[in-house]
Amino acid sequence: MIKEIQLRVTLQEEKQDDILLKKSARFLHINPKDITGIKLLRKSIDARKVKIIFNYKVAVYIKEQMPESSAYEFNYKDVSKAKSIHIIGFGPAGMYAALRCIELGYRPIVLERGKNVKDRRRDLKAINQDHFVNEDSNYCFGEGGAGTYSDGKLYTRSLKRGDVRRIFENLVLHGATEQILIDAHPHIGTNKLPKVVQNIRETILKYGGEIHFESRVTDFIIKENKIKAIQLQNNIEMAVERIILATGHSARDIYYLLHKKNIALKAKSFAMGIRVEHPQHIIDSIQYHCSGKRNELLPAASYNLVHQINGRGVYSFCMCPGGFIVPAATANGEVVVNGMSPSKRNNPFANSGIVVEINVDTDLPKYERFGVLKGLEYQKDLEGLAFTSGGRNQTAPAQRLTDFVEGRLSTNLNETSYQPGLKSAPLHSLLPKLIGGKLRKGLEVFGQKMKGYYTNEANVVGVESRTSSPITIPRNENLEHPEIKGLFPCGEGAGYAGGIVSAAMDGERCAEAAIKGL
Ligand SMILES: Cc1cc2nc3c(=O)[nH]c(=O)nc-3n(C[C@H](O)[C@H](O)[C@H](O)COP(=O)(O)OP(=O)(O)OC[C@H]3O[C@@H](n4cnc5c(N)ncnc54)[C@H](O)[C@@H]3O)c2cc1C
Repeated sequence: MIKEIQLRVTLQEEKQDDILLKKSARFLHINPKDITGIKLLRKSIDARKVKIIFNYKVAVYIKEQMPESSAYEFNYKDVSKAKSIHIIGFGPAGMYAALRCIELGYRPIVLERGKNVKDRRRDLKAINQDHFVNEDSNYCFGEGGAGTYSDGKLYTRSLKRGDVRRIFENLVLHGATEQILIDAHPHIGTNKLPKVVQNIRETILKYGGEIHFESRVTDFIIKENKIKAIQLQNNIEMAVERIILATGHSARDIYYLLHKKNIALKAKSFAMGIRVEHPQHIIDSIQYHCSGKRNELLPAASYNLVHQINGRGVYSFCMCPGGFIVPAATANGEVVVNGMSPSKRNNPFANSGIVVEINVDTDLPKYERFGVLKGLEYQKDLEGLAFTSGGRNQTAPAQRLTDFVEGRLSTNLNETSYQPGLKSAPLHSLLPKLIGGKLRKGLEVFGQKMKGYYTNEANVVGVESRTSSPITIPRNENLEHPEIKGLFPCGEGAGYAGGIVSAAMDGERCAEAAIKGL
């Protein structure tokens, strides 16, 4: 017999090895010896009150063997001689599109502008230490896409768009910890992600797929509204029948190319702001109601904040407990910040984007002349402003949180995890009022919601500009571009995903759509 039950475990009880066995037996009024196994289904922490509780959902096996296999089987086929689908971009969307093609018996040929995870690491070092951005290999471009050097947070709100559990089990198959199947807020960590990504590459190659790194797609050859070929940066042309375009939201050259070719695009609303960085112990003490070090059984605390100011959302985005702020620019001449964390989340800083919704229909009158590209041009200008005010390299403009809100230049800044360094700048007056004004009000309110959050021990760092795509590449009910046959816009860059998991799910769906009738 199998019984699914919920258990509540206190911090003190959590230390005991057999606590779930004891609690399950007591809950079910059975002898612990009759329990043959306990499968963890879900674990979350309830820290709303001083007494912190771990909530467990478990399946208790009573006088019955616990199965070892996972719910999913990934039935990869030898596709070396099968029909091909070309996939542009090897981020989560491209990787999962390729894996799904192989399951369905089609051969993925992947073109990726960046380098493999190992070689990519050198280019990240160059950004951090030499302030040099390789425009094809950086925190956004390269094997695994923008998701590789990230926090690897795996929660998504896109539950209706696909099977999240299937994506998680596939990550586990490729080396992610099984803990992601259980945690309410699962994450992998930047130190573990490259290996998972590399294992996915090896599966694709093993079953006959192709992956070409350092292969930037620079043109589409279209005849009679049908995609016929793609051109690479070295002028090599490749005949194609169907392409899945999964180039992410930082591939501005792709938006410009499509626009130049009169292929329909749509402006999309998005969000921009800054990244705020606190010492982790401040966030721990607020969230866990403690002073000094947090209990060793508790993970670095996180937060999720949102407030409406005059009908506009100001919210925290991509919070990285125990993490680093990273330089996520994809070109020289711009400063863009983002966040990542190692699997243990044991860095002494907590950072999070704090962003303001930008409505492309009403907020950007000065940019109307750019048509569908208006949001992108606005984003670019803000990143250029961060570059000049940061000192014309990857050093980022920053201010103490209280100085930013109260409108004065910081005479000095707090320590930071951001390796290229910070430069004091009057972000309160530099940022457009639409963003700066709302952020200042929002941060003040966040300080009321979380006592201790509003502190001069935190820095705000500019700019967090790549939260989501400012453009949608339209597609019809078959997930194909309505004007161009054989073009399947996919993932975050096309406007159909926001994060690793939703991009992966969209990749699978696009693969299923692209093989139809091939
Ligand atoms: C630092 C950082 C931290 C993040 N942390 C998280 C997190 O913790 N959790 C989360 O869910 N999300 C996180 N994100 C966002 C997440 O990484 C993206 O949502 C996700 O990667 C989008 O997947 P994608 O496949 O659609 O696009 P991308 O991951 O952007 O991949 C696109 C790929 O296409 C390639 N490409 C672009 N142009 C071309 C071209 N012309 N030719 C060939 N290849 C091309 C790029 O090199 C890139 O590899 C983070 C992002 C960053 C930058």
